[in-house]
Order: sequence, then C-alpha cells, then structure tokens
Amino acid sequence: MASNKRIVVKVGTNVLTREDRTLDKLIFRQVVVQLVKLIRAGYSPVLVSSGAVGAGRSIIGDSEIADEAIRRQVLSAVGQTSLMKSYFELFIEYDIVCAQVLATKEDFSEGEHYQNMVNCFEGLLGQGIVPIVNENDVVSLTELMFTDNDELAGLTATMIGAERLILLSNVDGVYGPGGDVVHHVPQNDHSVRAHISTEKSGMGRGGMLSKFEIATATAAQGIETIIANGKHDNIILDILSGKAIGTRFLTEELAK
Ligand code: GLU
Repeated sequence: MASNKRIVVKVGTNVLTREDRTLDKLIFRQVVVQLVKLIRAGYSPVLVSSGAVGAGRSIIGDSEIADEAIRRQVLSAVGQTSLMKSYFELFIEYDIVCAQVLATKEDFSEGEHYQNMVNCFEGLLGQGIVPIVNENDVVSLTELMFTDNDELAGLTATMIGAERLILLSNVDGVYGPGGDVVHHVPQNDHSVRAHISTEKSGMGRGGMLSKFEIATATAAQGIETIIANGKHDNIILDILSGKAIGTRFLTEELAK
C-alpha cells in the first residue's frame, strides 16, 4: 500500500553543475539536507538525479571518442560512480542509507520488468532507504532512451504512487506571455504551452516543453507536480510549505 507521503524529487544536470560544468558540491549538500529534513518529517523521498554525463565530463574531460553514443556511455559510466559517491557520503553523515537504481525504458513497460522495478522500490522504501534513480545511460541508447530524466521521474512518481513530483531545473518555472512565472496551471489548461520556448539550456537533455508535458500528464493522474529552480536555497521545503514559488500543476483534487 502506497504511503501518502511519498514524493519524487528530480534534479537536473543544470542544477548540479556550475557554469564551468564542474559539479556543484554545495548544491548536492543542499538537496541532501532538504531530503533528510523530509524524512524526519515522515516523508519517503525518491531522488531522480541526472548529472552522470556531466560528472564524467568533469573527471575525464570531454573525451576524444568520436562516436557520440559511445562517448555518452563512457562519460556516464565514469560519472555515475562519482555521483553516487557524493550522495552516499552526504546521506550517511545523517545516518541515512541511499541506493542506486538505474532504469531503462523497458523497466516501465508492462510485465515482469515493471513488477521487478515495483518490488525494488517497495523493498528500498520499506527499509527507509532513499532510492537515487537515473537512466542506465550505459545500456540505454537511441530509441530505447527515455525522452529525458523528467520522463523517468514522472514514470517513477506514478509507479510508487507518489503524492507529489518536484522537477528542479535552473529556471524559476514556466513563464507566461508577460514574462512572469505562472504559479498555477489548472488541469487541462494548455494556454501557457504556446509561450514555452523549445530551446534547451545548458547540458541537460530535457527542455521546458517536455517538462510541461510530463507535468501536465502526471498532474492528470492525481500527482501534484511542481517545476521550480533547484539553485534556490530550501526550494523543496518552501514548495512543501505552500510558498508561491515555481509552477504548480494542479490535480483535480487541488482545483476544487
Ligand atoms: N541520464 C543523464 C545523466 O545522468 C541525464 C538525462 C537528462 O538530462 O535528462 O547525465
């Protein structure tokens, strides 16, 4: 039975890295400390973390491998270990165990793979362990890839029966026509969609349009979804305390 305090937080590569593309250790700590506070408040968080390719790049440089797919495999294989090392060391300072869950698209299609994934999440959450999820970039290539980790985060939120999904990137939310952040997107309201730029910023694979679509779909399933700026201090806790921050995609329940 899913706990109603399950929450999925996704952090993008642009949150975890600085402008010079190295990992921002302070942000890692801020994310972990906020998740620790959530756990102490009775939440069961799942963290979906990008940054493997970015971390790999900060360790071995851009790599001279000409084949783009192989380069991505090598960078993510190197970087994933350092990502997990950072998370493990931070969580353990607070006596919390975290675990690496690497997923492919197949794990979310009906059948045995799906059930294995459910069992894995239930097993970890049941032990009070924080699952840290990323796409298995080493084996998922081309057509078998998730659109981006926002899609993976949305699927994870649905799979575990989360009450909320928080997508953190380096922008403050979805901007409306006047240039201000739109704080609430009611169900089936696609009016702001037309104003979203299709441009992608920085190193992440996703963009605002795909975030918008995932957030709309996840909210339609009854999971409140928030797009906000992960560079801001205390952002996760501020969202949960109801501050007017980021863009909230309302569920049917919340719109009443
Ligand atoms: N899985 C990729 C990584 O860890 C990120 C994918 C994305 O940007 O959404 O580097």
